[in-house]
Amino acid sequence: MTSIVILGPNLADQSKGSFHVHSAGCADIKRNRLYKSREFDSDKRNVQDFDSEKQVAEYVYADMLDENDMATLLSNIYFHACVSFPKKESAIMGKTWKITFELYNEELFFEMEIVTADDNLADTVAALEGIANVRNLNVSRNS
Ligand SMILES: [Zn+2]
Repeated sequence: MTSIVILGPNLADQSKGSFHVHSAGCADIKRNRLYKSREFDSDKRNVQDFDSEKQVAEYVYADMLDENDMATLLSNIYFHACVSFPKKESAIMGKTWKITFELYNEELFFEMEIVTADDNLADTVAALEGIANVRNLNVSRNS
């Protein structure tokens, strides 16, 4: 379990996402000008424990899980470097994630698939989204 603080939405700068996640007690929570507004006071007091980035996304977007895939939800939440979750939670449970996407050019495309037990998918998803010829990115649970 990792104790974190989730700040957002309505951050003045949303280039990194609508929500910022810091570890509880991180100095940036007090220092960063983005969180100065009083509307974030309750966010700062709301320290909660999570096991993975996915759990945070499920909490933040509880009402929107049906309409959006996990990759989209995670891309809107920025996990600062102060946050680290215990890895391999899914591996212990014998479950994995499947990331599928297409690599394409004008003539053809390849269907790609990544299977991982690491619940911290945000970095992988962000890296794939940064590739110009990637489309139809999707994250799903492998049972
Ligand atoms: Zn921080």
